[in-house]
Order: sequence, then structure tokens, then C-alpha cells
Amino acid sequence: MYERFWQQAGDKSTIVIPGWQSMSYFSDAGSLCWFLEPEFAKEIIRLHKTVGNAVTEDRYIVVGTGSTQLYQAVLYALSPQDAVEPLSVVSAAPYYSSYPLITDCLKSGLYKWAGDARSFNEEGPFIELVTSPNNPDGYVRQSVVNKSGGILVHDLAYYWPQYTPIASAANHDIMLFTVSKSTGHAGMRIGWALVKDVEVAKKMVKFVELNTIGVSKDSQLRAAKVLQVVIHSCQYPTSLGSLFDFAAHLMEERWKLLRAAVRQSGLFTLPEFSPGSCSFLNRSFAPQPAFAWLKCQEPMEDCEGFLRSNNIITRSGKHFGVSPQYVRISMLDRDENFHIFVERLSTIHLRQSVQV
Ligand code: PMP
Repeated sequence: MYERFWQQAGDKSTIVIPGWQSMSYFSDAGSLCWFLEPEFAKEIIRLHKTVGNAVTEDRYIVVGTGSTQLYQAVLYALSPQDAVEPLSVVSAAPYYSSYPLITDCLKSGLYKWAGDARSFNEEGPFIELVTSPNNPDGYVRQSVVNKSGGILVHDLAYYWPQYTPIASAANHDIMLFTVSKSTGHAGMRIGWALVKDVEVAKKMVKFVELNTIGVSKDSQLRAAKVLQVVIHSCQYPTSLGSLFDFAAHLMEERWKLLRAAVRQSGLFTLPEFSPGSCSFLNRSFAPQPAFAWLKCQEPMEDCEGFLRSNNIITRSGKHFGVSPQYVRISMLDRDENFHIFVERLSTIHLRQSVQV
């Protein structure tokens, strides 16, 4: 979806790295996050200040190979090394399907996946993941576990104005971001954490050191350039507007097409959102999430199977901790694929009646 913007940016977003450059493990040997490129750190702060979506003052920045690595670094950093029992990790269902898989893949003695935060009632400390806006359903979220002893981790991958109104600068203790969903550069594998507590930040750095001895410098330099172009597009918009104007406009169009197709099919429902005012785009609009969270109407049980038989590939609700009546569909594909998808969705009822 973002390709067109970057094609128009052309050489402004190109970098050249000669063979002799960026060879060392170290980026900034004296600083807490010694593998963080200073140029990239500078652009992260400028971007958050421009968009107004997160507080960067009094925070440490930890860079990761995607926010996926930082998620694991956070679990490592927050788990006591000498605990008898692994620390419970919860998130309100429907939750991002990778959380349980990543949390339990190494069967760590430090932490374990403990499921839906709403039904969590074990004694002792725990980690609650708050994904806002949420993957898969797009709602803005707050923590749901109503007891002490919890440490909150805010995954703000989608807290950008193309997906949801920016209400205020997020000001949480641990916040995760990624270029995957902000600029569209998922393949660059770059994420960053804004961390308040120095000890937590140090342990996250330690994890990345043990895991991959830092993060690709090439990718960080490329990410710095890409963020620079994004910020420049906010200050001096081209015919496409800023990156956020461009992407917000596309998302708005896509959600209109999707809702029309769902109405036409008569077989599904979508989440409904109330509008909110966005301090960055200076207008009020309803969330237009990166995913369509579709619910098949009764009596259909296996929504994924039903859609697959109609040549639409989705991910079943069962991976997100809820019923298979739900499915998640990406809204960020290329124009061509998105249009085939809405066309197929809107004509499903016709194919069904032919089959019957
Ligand atoms: N958190 C959430 C909520 C996501 O949806 C994703 C990407 N699907 C990630 C984290 C992972 O991002 P990255 O590509 O930076 O590893």
C-alpha cells in the first residue's frame, strides 16, 4: 500500500553505503544502547515530536530487529531471574496471534503465556500487553486486568494517524513501535522501544546483545533516511500530501469500499468505531484499522474455511483467542489485490445462491 508514496519520493529516500562504512559492531560505544545509530535515534525523536503520538523525554531508546525482537527483549527484561515460577504474560482477547507463539516457543523458565487478560485470576506478578489500536480488531485499548502486580507493555505499532486519531502523546513506561506499520517498511526489520526505567532498558539492551549482538546498521541508516523523508513530507507536503495524509486517505477509501462490500454480501459484520479528533491531521475521523476483523453471521461456524472456498485467504479468530466465527484480513495489500478482495467479498452471496 505504501509503495506509491515511496516511488514518488524517488531518490530522496535512497542511501548509498560504501563497502568500508558501518563495519563495526558498535554504533555509539559510550551510550546505554551501544548498537543504536545516533542518526536513527535523532529521527525517531523528531518523528514523535512531529506527529505528537508519544512522549520521548526522559526515555531510553532501544532499537530492535523489528518490534518482534523488542517484545522478546521486554519479556526477558521484566522477568525475575531467580523466580520459582515463570512470569505470566496476558493480553485481552482478541490479541495479536504472535504473542502466544513467541512467548512459548522456547518454553522459557522465565515467562509463560497465560491467555486472555480478562479471565486472568492467578496470584502474583504478571505482564499485560496492551496493543492500541489493537491487532486484530482496531479498537483503542487500555489495560483490563484489575489488580496490582502487573507490568504494562504498550505495543503501539498502529498508533499513527493513518489508522486512528492521535488523541494525545502516549506516555507509558514501555512503548513499542515499528517501521513495518508506520512507513510500510516491514522488510527493513526495524523497531524501537521507548523505555522509562534505566534498568529495564539496560536488560533489553543485554537481550539484543545476547540474541543478535546488536541490530543491522545498514537497516538503521536506511530507517533514519526514511523517517527523515517522512518528517520532510509533513513539513513540505507534495501532491500526495505527507506520508500520513497519503496513507490516511487510502485507508479511508479502502474502509468505504470494504463496508460497501460487506453490506452487499449481507453475510458478515465489521466493528463499528466512533469518530475522534486527531491533533495531527486537525480533523475528526473514525478509526480505519490496518485489519478488517470480520464476523460471519450465524449459523456459519468456520469463517476462514467459508472464505477460503471463495478464494479469500484470511486468518481464523481461533489464533487470536476467540471463536472461528471471526477472521482477520489485511487492509494494507497493494491496490490490485485489495480490489480483487472487495470484489470477491461483495459477490459471495451471488455465488452462494448459485451453489444452492
Ligand atoms: N506488534 C503488532 C501488534 C503487530 O501487528 C506486528 C506486526 N504484525 C508487530 C508487533 C511486529 O512488528 P515488526 O515487523 O516490527 O516485528
